[in-house]
Amino acid sequence: MNLNEHYLRLSDTDPASLIEKKIQEHMLLSPDRQLLRLDAEDSPFPLPRCVDQAMSEAAIQLQNDATLRKLPPVSGYPFLIEAIKNSYSQRSIALTEGEIFINNGAKCDIAGILELASTDNTVVITEPFNPVYYSSNLAAGRNVRFISSDPVSYEPPLPDEEHADIIYLSSPCNPTGYVYTKEMLKQWVDYALYHNALILFDASYEAFIRSEELPRSIYEIEGAKKCAVEICSLSKAAGFGNTRLGYTVIPNPLIFDSVRLNQLWMRRERMKFNGVSYVAQKGAAAVFSEEGQKELCQITDAVLLNAQMLRRAFVNLGLCQKGEVNSPFVWIRCPQKLSSWGCFDYFLKEMGVVTLPGSIFGAGGENHMKISAYATREIVCAAIERFAALMGKEKPLE
Ligand code: PLP
Repeated sequence: MNLNEHYLRLSDTDPASLIEKKIQEHMLLSPDRQLLRLDAEDSPFPLPRCVDQAMSEAAIQLQNDATLRKLPPVSGYPFLIEAIKNSYSQRSIALTEGEIFINNGAKCDIAGILELASTDNTVVITEPFNPVYYSSNLAAGRNVRFISSDPVSYEPPLPDEEHADIIYLSSPCNPTGYVYTKEMLKQWVDYALYHNALILFDASYEAFIRSEELPRSIYEIEGAKKCAVEICSLSKAAGFGNTRLGYTVIPNPLIFDSVRLNQLWMRRERMKFNGVSYVAQKGAAAVFSEEGQKELCQITDAVLLNAQMLRRAFVNLGLCQKGEVNSPFVWIRCPQKLSSWGCFDYFLKEMGVVTLPGSIFGAGGENHMKISAYATREIVCAAIERFAALMGKEKPLE
């Protein structure tokens, strides 16, 4: 056998392992100092109570002959698809059952959907970006073009004059936290329609958007159903990081080379996927219940308050600009012009605070850090005090 040579172009370094190794080394040197972790990418909190209950009931059903389930439907159980459809319709977005596909987390579809696209396609990725956008295209041998966010405001870029076939947009953007406005998204939709391109819209963090004016779905933009796939995750707000569940919307009007994309995706799913467990889907359906949405709101409100406190602290320290917070993280400039990894080491060694180096999110993230608000309030307050003490400013909390 010959190897797929494109895989050899992927980096063998795993930033998460490197971070754990650095933490272990640090703990040996400073065993008495409490480590404060501001590097979580998913909700570290327990599953909402109603989810836990729904999953326990489902597990009991699987123990009885009369109620046990065989293989799940490939695209998801109708009860969950219906719940997701209703959640869109509450936001005035009409979808049909065949347009929604349940998956075991957004990441697999972000990469998997590329199988439907020719490897000749040119891909546009807006920097900084979620690493899977780049690595999955690199592994397929596709040509990737980057467009950078504004280096000062971190406002994500608008389309340029050049052609693209596939465009990745993430909103709220991981890692900058920036949310596209409707006007910005409209420009991308118009660009995609003009170029007959596909937008892969990663809405994994949409549950954190509070501003009424900001779109939570690309389908709030006219024309988007003809050019965009939307990918969502329950890892980020509902605590499904381990349970694994997400969903992908591929609208009927999305047609390339006279083929409906959702039909082609269904063909792919039947070939490669055997669906998501009944237990996980029952838990996910509970997330969309009235009680689930209330619990979700409590979790996201607490994380958003953490993010606001962190942002205010970093504004006071001159490391980021004022602005609305609609995501679970804060994107800051490294102090003293440090590199991202240099800054990671500095924060860890001097304060025992773990953050995420911006360079993990592409070259455009160098000299920046991502600070995650996925932590308890105590940890966030303690970290803010340590940042303030290290950088020689007054305690930034009121
Ligand atoms: N999309 C974004 C923007 C992410 O940051 C991540 C994970 O960190 C994912 C998707 C993957 O989410 P999931 O856990 O649903 O696979």
